[in-house]
Formats: sequence, structure tokens, C-alpha cells
Amino acid sequence: MKELKPITVNVDELISLNHYNVDEENAHIELDHENLDEVDDTEFQKLVRVCPAALYKVDEEGHKSFDYAGCLECGTCRICCEDTIVKKWEMPQPTMGVEYRFG
Ligand code: SF4
Repeated sequence: MKELKPITVNVDELISLNHYNVDEENAHIELDHENLDEVDDTEFQKLVRVCPAALYKVDEEGHKSFDYAGCLECGTCRICCEDTIVKKWEMPQPTMGVEYRFG
């Protein structure tokens, strides 16, 4: 039987090709808690795992953070946690957000 080997993709390298026009005045994603450290760990870990841009983070001391800059507008976090952590999710205003570049 042929052994299957994992395929490694450097997502950071591919994502860095994109251009982002971040709307500093109007966040297109807002979370339901001012202090993310109070958010349920299990629920937040869902976001850490599903966001392809790795915008939901937990540092070595367990502090949680999120920054919508760099969002790929895939909507996965909305589907995953709309009823719990993600309070607002909308498409960025025209001319704002990600501009995909494929190299
Ligand atoms: S829409 Fe996609 S890329 Fe943007 S924060 Fe949510 S999961 Fe991450």
C-alpha cells in the first residue's frame, strides 16, 4: 500500500500577495465582547481553527485577540460563531477590503 504524505502549503506566502484596503472607520466584523479574554475558550478556539487568515489568535499566556485587517471575506467565522462571538459581519464598503492577487 502506498504511504500518503502530508502536503504542506505556505498560506502566509500566498496571502501576502493580496492587497488590503482596511476601513479604519467602519469595522466590517465586530465581536460580541469588549474583553476577549472573557469569551468562552472552546468557542474562540473554533475561530482560531477556521479562519484561513489566522486573524483570531491566542498567545502563549492565553490572551485572545482579533484584528479584521487582513480578512479574506470568506465568511467562515460568521457561519461558525454568529450566535455566540461574532456580533456583526458584513461585506466591507465599496473599494474597501481585500483585493485578491494571484501572483
Ligand atoms: S471572514 Fe474569513 S478571513 Fe475574515 S475573519 Fe472571518 S474567517 Fe477570517
